[in-house]
Formats: sequence, structure tokens, C-alpha cells
Amino acid sequence: MMEAALWSSCPPTEQLYHDDPYGTTATATVISVRDHYAVFDRSIFYAESGGQVADQGTIDGARVVDVQKAGGRPFQLPNGEVATVESVFCHRFAEPCTLTPGQQVTMEIDWDRRFRNMQMHTLAHFLFHATGEYLQANGQTRSTRGCHISDSSARFDFGSAIPSEAVAVIQAHVTELLASSPEATVTALPGTHDVFVWRSGALEIPCGGTHVNHPKEIRGTVTVRRRTKGRNGTRLYVELDRDTHI
Ligand SMILES: [Zn+2]
Repeated sequence: MMEAALWSSCPPTEQLYHDDPYGTTATATVISVRDHYAVFDRSIFYAESGGQVADQGTIDGARVVDVQKAGGRPFQLPNGEVATVESVFCHRFAEPCTLTPGQQVTMEIDWDRRFRNMQMHTLAHFLFHATGEYLQANGQTRSTRGCHISDSSARFDFGSAIPSEAVAVIQAHVTELLASSPEATVTALPGTHDVFVWRSGALEIPCGGTHVNHPKEIRGTVTVRRRTKGRNGTRLYVELDRDTHI
């Protein structure tokens, strides 16, 4: 948890990536600075949440290595889960931060990393859906204990014993979803500026993450792997071996 002295008097950070997840640069104003950290009025950086790792990049040339949320309020999602909204984004720099409150800055994210995260986030939704379909077909209910999405892999911890023979079935379904799903739409949920519903075809998932607009932007070979995780738990990974000739 970030020191309250940094963020407790700051307004919620405006999250610019919701308007355009493909934006790579933006200007912002410094609100608060402490040690390696700074808070701005708005940010183009994705803060770690929903299992998706934070963006990295630079602010006025200084390297940003992590972005974490602080504060905020709970918000009930339609699926019964609770998200935190209206958070303050605490940007962590590689070196002690030399910015001063009121200063205008230019932010630039590491686009290659962000785009890979967007690809894996979309694949994570396909894995989530395909696993739910498999469990339902086998008389089980899907429950999740956590997830993690990075630029090369996404994983879910499911609260079910999923047998090894399920992996090929789920992998084939994820691959089929990737090939056949239409362009995604993202719609804000009433009452919040930072939770949305992501839809692609019949799939509908409440989410505040960043995704590719169209599954066609994910080119490569999908692999699903499995390991048992605790009692009656299974961790499933989806990985993308990206085509390099395009
Ligand atoms: Zn999402």
C-alpha cells in the first residue's frame, strides 16, 4: 500500500486509456510527489488491477516502472463481484521523482508492452469463457480464485478440479473463439467512469482492462497449459506464440 501522505488528499485519477486504449502519449499535471512516486490529475498508464499488470514508460523522460491504485470506493458489479473505482494512480519511478506539483508533464507508455497486454487480456476472456463452457458441459459451476495477465501469458485459478484431458478441448475452443469472434465493443456501466462491459459476439464480461479492438489483432498459435492448484483447484494458462513474419 502506498503511503497515504502521497495520495490521500488527491482527487481520483482520470483514466485516459478508456477513451482510447491505443493512445500512447498524453499530457497531465502533477498533483503530489513523494520519494519515487508521483500522482497526476490524469494518466495514460494502466494501473495494475483485474489481474492485468501495470504499464511502464516514461514521464518527461524519467522511467516509470510500476503504477498501483490507492484509495477509491467499492462498486458492485452486475455479476456480484465488487470492483474498486475512483482510485488514485501512484506512479513509481526508477529514480527518486524530481517533479513538482502544478508542473505539466508528457507521459509516454511502452506501447509494445501495452499492446501485448491487450492481446493477452482478450485471450484471457476467451480462456475464461471456454473453461466455463467446459465446466458447464460437465455439470460443474465456474468459480475463480484469481487471475494474472502479463504480456506473454494469462492465467486463471479455477475452483474446480479440471482434468488433463480438458486442456485440448479448452485450447481448441479458445482457438476457435480467436478465429471467429467479431470486433469487441466496450460500454461504460452506469454510475462509474472506470468499469465497462466488454462484449464480443455472445461473450459479455464486466471489465476495466485494456483489450484489442478485434481478435484479428492477435496472430499466432494459442497454447493452453494446466497445473493443479491446491485442493480442488486448477490453474490454466493461455500463452501466445506470436507470428513473427508479420
Ligand atoms: Zn477485460
